[in-house]
Amino acid sequence: MIIFDNFLKKLIIGFAFTGLLSFTNLAQEEYKDPKNKALQELYPGGPFYEVQNYTQSNSTKNPKNIILMIGDGMGLAHVYSAMTANRGHLFLENFKHIGFSKTYSSSDYITDSAAGVTALACGVKTFNGALGVDPEKKPVKNIRELAENKGLKTGLVSTSAITHATPAGFVAHIDSRGEYEEIAAQFLKTNIDVFIGGGSKNFESRKDGRNLSKELIDKGYKVLYTIADIKKSTTGKLAGFTAPEHDAPMPARGDVLVPATETAIKLLSQTSKGFFLMVEGSEIDFLAHENITPGVVLETLDFDRAIGAALKFAASNGETLIIVTADHETGGMSINGGDYKTGMVTAKYTSGEHTGIAVPVYAFGPGAEQFTGFIENTDIAKRMMKLLQLTP
Ligand code: MG
Ligand code: ZN
Repeated sequence: MIIFDNFLKKLIIGFAFTGLLSFTNLAQEEYKDPKNKALQELYPGGPFYEVQNYTQSNSTKNPKNIILMIGDGMGLAHVYSAMTANRGHLFLENFKHIGFSKTYSSSDYITDSAAGVTALACGVKTFNGALGVDPEKKPVKNIRELAENKGLKTGLVSTSAITHATPAGFVAHIDSRGEYEEIAAQFLKTNIDVFIGGGSKNFESRKDGRNLSKELIDKGYKVLYTIADIKKSTTGKLAGFTAPEHDAPMPARGDVLVPATETAIKLLSQTSKGFFLMVEGSEIDFLAHENITPGVVLETLDFDRAIGAALKFAASNGETLIIVTADHETGGMSINGGDYKTGMVTAKYTSGEHTGIAVPVYAFGPGAEQFTGFIENTDIAKRMMKLLQLTP
């Protein structure tokens, strides 16, 4: 596999050659010019990475560990554009059990990420904006809490603020997702083993004057602020902050999601009782809202490389189920042209928002066969809970 630093260097050079200079510039300036719509829709092609083949060889009927990977906003077109960019192959192709998740919420045909994650984490459809509560605003237990209560190790990895809806859905119980400081405070009420993501601001510069990072240290956590330090962690509880708010989008972010995922797996797998880990490819959604194809492609490739890291562990471990899915589709993205030889892909979008279409579910490992066909998003949580023998 091409070393990612190299990949990134070539990528930036690649963009320079094609006149885009760097995606960061594009993201901040040029795409806002409506004349550049064609530029936004085109990923010109770039370097690619080798994809390993992993075969599922389960050593148990029920998984001991579950890694849930949520590509925020990641519909089939997002995946297939990345597959085209990577010359026709992704790590995701190792997943042989595939289904579709119906993503509607209790209040809306088109869900937001809060109701979406509540379905995936708690097995309950709720109203848009709500986290970890049912339509009557009654708290409902999420799979991470149930796993923690049973003695499993638990963790969260995200490239958005860790207090943003998707990761917060595995911690918080609140009827409005925007209460970031309250959500950060709810992390302190858990016994979570590892969390890595942005959002240090919500822990440290707060209206109530509390310094939650200090409180985390008092509770026995190591609190670290760079991915270089985070990936050196070998044991113990970890709060890893990679940004004050959200991480930068790719390629400016660099290699964060893969080492964060590897570190979480390294720390969580040090137990005989099993673990639950959620990894989010957060910014696929952000770039899809903007209808920027290079951003969607690069974010989805980054997420696929994190999937590769999880597969490497699961394939050798034999007791780990990986589920990859999305909370909803973003952008109404479709693919209008591509080239497997150059990795070029062009896309069109029907929306700057989320859409109502079902999203794919991919499963690998013991229990994977239970995640096929058309299923409710809530079934994903319910079946994961059953496989880990957790009772709500
Ligand atoms: Mg999210
Ligand atoms: Zn969104």
